[in-house]
Amino acid sequence: MNLTHLGRAAGAAAHAPLRLTGPEQATLDALLRAGLGPLRCHAVELRGTPDLVLDSHRVCVFVHGCFWHHHRGCQLARVPTTNRAFWEAKFARNQARDAAVLTALQAQGWRTIMVRECATRRMQATRLGAELKRLLESGATHAEITSGPPDPAAAGSHLSAGTSPSQLPA
Ligand SMILES: [Zn+2]
Repeated sequence: MNLTHLGRAAGAAAHAPLRLTGPEQATLDALLRAGLGPLRCHAVELRGTPDLVLDSHRVCVFVHGCFWHHHRGCQLARVPTTNRAFWEAKFARNQARDAAVLTALQAQGWRTIMVRECATRRMQATRLGAELKRLLESGATHAEITSGPPDPAAAGSHLSAGTSPSQLPA
């Protein structure tokens, strides 16, 4: 996490030390690369503490880890085989909380975008930024950016379906 870069480039009110996760940083980078802003991070006054907020667009961006937010069908979101009932109950609670947060924010006139961790890992920053820009301009109330189809059958090819040339067969 580079605070100097964040404060200068994003105009963020970085008064307190900010710790961004890798996927959050990737999403921030993508937004900046797309020329989107101003934005701020971890808006504690808003329900669910949105990871990134673009006030001028009235948009909250949540960057959700695939495991904890249980991205169904995603290879990063496999349920641990031990204590399975415990994990499934926990994931169900997390998902219910996520849904309640989005509903509450939308009721206050916020638009919401959910960026899945797998998308930040597999999409180039320019492509992710372009997608975020497109969604911002679309005026959609809610949108989700995910790297692949939420289909368990597709999980086997999940990580080989990216856009990076390095993943193509030699
Ligand atoms: Zn995922």
